[in-house]
Amino acid sequence: MIIVLKPNITSRQETAVLKEIRKLGYRPHVIRGVERVVIGAIGDERTHHTLETLTTWPQVENVMPVQKRYKLVSREAHPSDSTVRVGLRVAIGGRQLHIMAGPCSVESEKQLLTTAHAVQRAGATLLRGGAFKPRTSPYEFQGLGEKGLKLLAKARAETGLPVITELLSETQAELVAEYADILQIGTRNAQNFQLLIAAAKTGRPVLLKRGLSMRIEEWLLAGEYILANENPNLLFCERGIRTFETYTRNTLDLAAVPIVKRESHCPVVVDPSQGAGRSDLVTALCKGAVAMGADALLIEVHPNPAEAWSDGAQQVTLAGFARLMEELRPLAAAVGKELPGS
Ligand code: PEP
Ligand code: MN
Repeated sequence: MIIVLKPNITSRQETAVLKEIRKLGYRPHVIRGVERVVIGAIGDERTHHTLETLTTWPQVENVMPVQKRYKLVSREAHPSDSTVRVGLRVAIGGRQLHIMAGPCSVESEKQLLTTAHAVQRAGATLLRGGAFKPRTSPYEFQGLGEKGLKLLAKARAETGLPVITELLSETQAELVAEYADILQIGTRNAQNFQLLIAAAKTGRPVLLKRGLSMRIEEWLLAGEYILANENPNLLFCERGIRTFETYTRNTLDLAAVPIVKRESHCPVVVDPSQGAGRSDLVTALCKGAVAMGADALLIEVHPNPAEAWSDGAQQVTLAGFARLMEELRPLAAAVGKELPGS
């Protein structure tokens, strides 16, 4: 910790601060400037008492941490990239760019299976689909629940694609983990810490969406809950944040990709579908995400978006998805990533 003292304090006031720092288990190192004194307090902030209480002292101007608040997700804890293994064939965070594709909501067997086969043919390596949907209005389609999970399992059995799906509450953790290969924590639940703990404890990999108005530090700290609960398999997913802009549903923060990749060893996924809320922007945003270093993309695909039960405006068609994949190929190669079938 760095403790900055106010100018013109007495030596008695300075001594009192030094005494307190020692009392709390730190070694003070005094830097005497022209106008003020700065103290570096040396000691492990994880094992010692916090020095933040010094901010309430009248002679103290500021107390600043040197260490990051997140530990296990940080690059300091794990300098090389982590890979998250899903089943036998998928390792997210390596050379291969992974594509998680499928409908926003699971609606019917026909809708899901048609989509699953089509996205697989086009090169997707995982199947997405919501069975429990976090809808803004209680009058909108809430998802098929367990029936939806069973359909996802059927689609996996037919295609071999591992499945990612969202859970909304702690009480669903065991049930969803029975069917899903990756648990998705949605933007609205990104700081539901009890849910994060319950998801971590299932042992399944967890994809943590960024909260609608979450700062990157808060997002990293939310991710810390997964690793701190003995689950090393965490994926961060940028899906847009709320801003004043209205041309897009959210503002996809692509700068977050290299920032999180620099700060953390965990793989980063980008969801351009929730990010823009517009199917016409999905390809461009996918390209941007890949150029920024994303390890995987989460893309909503529907056989007939105009009739989708949720998020119709942002879902791409089966043909649109196949085109998108072809457009991504040269870009992925340019940044040293591979797409299946390349
Ligand atoms: C979704 O993936 O369909 C979804 C609801 O995502 P988010 O939580 O990012 O809105
Ligand atoms: Mn959606």
